[in-house]
Amino acid sequence: MAWRILMTHRSDRKFRKFGLILSASLMLISLMVIYVHPSPAQLRPDRSPSTASPRLIVTPTTPRLGDTLSVIVPGPQAPVVQMTSKAGTKIYPAYDLGNNRWRAFIPTTPLTPPGALKIQAQIAGVAEIQIKTVTLQGRSFPTQRIWLPPGQDGNVSDWEFDQVDAFKKTVSPEKLWNGSFRRPNDGEITATYGIRRYYNGVFADDYFHRGVDYAGDEGSAIVAPAAGRIVFMGYEKDGFKVHGNVIGLDHGQGVLSIFLHMNSIRVKRGDLVQAGQTIGTLGETGAATGPHLHWGLYVNEECVDPTTWRKTGLD
Ligand SMILES: [Zn+2]
Repeated sequence: MAWRILMTHRSDRKFRKFGLILSASLMLISLMVIYVHPSPAQLRPDRSPSTASPRLIVTPTTPRLGDTLSVIVPGPQAPVVQMTSKAGTKIYPAYDLGNNRWRAFIPTTPLTPPGALKIQAQIAGVAEIQIKTVTLQGRSFPTQRIWLPPGQDGNVSDWEFDQVDAFKKTVSPEKLWNGSFRRPNDGEITATYGIRRYYNGVFADDYFHRGVDYAGDEGSAIVAPAAGRIVFMGYEKDGFKVHGNVIGLDHGQGVLSIFLHMNSIRVKRGDLVQAGQTIGTLGETGAATGPHLHWGLYVNEECVDPTTWRKTGLD
């Protein structure tokens, strides 16, 4: 009996020791699994969909300078949408998409500070504030070095720029565009969006190329990249010395196109034009060093990169 008891004890102890090692190893492995490969399910097991913060959808999820952010907010009525960056807070209009969804566009440009963009939406009478933060990625743009002789830098009229600035504030509620934007001229692109400049060796903090240049043939067709209404027009002979013959096209909901240096204008103020419709011809009026079309796309008063609007569209 004594021997058997002893043996039992010994085997128990052996077993316990083995068991301790086994459980310690298992714990270590589980710890490694948790810390080396954390998964949302392991770290947040209790969050049910009903308590999860909604519903605000921001695309693209990793925007970069020049992108237009699309913010979709669910709710029965128009939300107030605001975005806070290092440059401050701004409010953006939201429009009804139907099915209790609203959409606001938030423009970014080469001058927007990269980093966190905090987007908030609140519906009148609803306490809850929907919040989403995205990180705006930096982006390097090509640079140009411009050398100006003394006395030839900035002799432009305020009147001309005041006219164009007033056009850029146009906001009309009806969405007139559909699908992706077309290229407005067949010419080769000779200057892309966002190019930065040095003037006489000094970096111009406020300058970036606010559009895309198409070096088509003099007199070639300029077509509307998307449907819209002609709401602005100016002629070189009337004082548009920099822009030249110029058209402003309102696509609705704060989305605008501007066309510079035109030879002829083939539309009237107030005309509703369709995508692909000829609105004029390419020229070199105003401050242009050769025949080209400068097309600028503006969203809520800021000039955005048209690439996404052209390639995939923002409907
Ligand atoms: Zn240009």
